[in-house]
Amino acid sequence: MEDYELILEPFIYSITQFENKGKTTLGDKSNRECIYCGKVKGEVTFKKEAHVIPASLGNRTLFNYNECDNCNEHYFGVHENELANYLMLDRVFTGSRKRNGLPTYKPNPKGDTSIRHMTDSNTVAIKIDDIDGRFEIIQNESLNQLTYRINEPLPYRLADICKALTHMVWPFLSLKQRNELKHIPDWLLGKYDIFPLYLDKLFVPGNGYSNVMLECWEHTDPKALYPLLVRFTFGTKILSFYIPKSRNISIPPKRYTDYIQIPDKVNVTFDPLIIKDNQRSYPKDLSFTFKYSSISEKTTIKE
Ligand SMILES: [Zn+2]
Repeated sequence: MEDYELILEPFIYSITQFENKGKTTLGDKSNRECIYCGKVKGEVTFKKEAHVIPASLGNRTLFNYNECDNCNEHYFGVHENELANYLMLDRVFTGSRKRNGLPTYKPNPKGDTSIRHMTDSNTVAIKIDDIDGRFEIIQNESLNQLTYRINEPLPYRLADICKALTHMVWPFLSLKQRNELKHIPDWLLGKYDIFPLYLDKLFVPGNGYSNVMLECWEHTDPKALYPLLVRFTFGTKILSFYIPKSRNISIPPKRYTDYIQIPDKVNVTFDPLIIKDNQRSYPKDLSFTFKYSSISEKTTIKE
């Protein structure tokens, strides 16, 4: 077992509630130097509030002074979209906040099929236009289970998701830690690729975590090939990305499977991914299965 230690107080916020906790802005306001491209105020602008965790995933409080508008718009915005696509169904089913209102998943803009989390309720409204042929509800009466299946959900690029995760912890690191990983900013900005990348996906069955959580773990061995581990909990998923010590490492990390969220190993699905290229993934379908105790008379399944 690899040994990692938590090095930051995990950053936590509610997935559904607007909390008035005040803003936290990392970095140095008086010295606007971008920690990604290295440019300073004058060479680039710093007008936008740079979100450390994407706004599309409900972050209203955590920002970074030391990220320029160019990096924000042209690089991290792109990576964050891929992550938001990847977490789309978690966003809908947990009723997570986005910039305005609650998220709706509409597989086909012209079609009538949608999944929408209703305001002020714990209801997910599902509207099916089966002409789309993209959405199905499968009921298993003997198991009291409903499975929602979406055919052809939003595509995503896993390499960009690794970058979105790295971007979240980068401003929390000390100058010394960043200096030891000098290859990372150029990788984030697409100057070169690093492959393979190693990302763990943990699926936790149930209704999803009510809090979003960002963790940063450091390897206890200073010579470790993957000195840092970023972990991000959102909905029913916990993603872990192993930040490599250099551009070329031929040895994969030993996957670190101690989770503070899961004290006793429940029935989770652990999926260690190896990412070998920049291809986008176009999943064929995506299913969510819910258990219910009973179906009320009000429950209608429209066809
Ligand atoms: Zn920049």
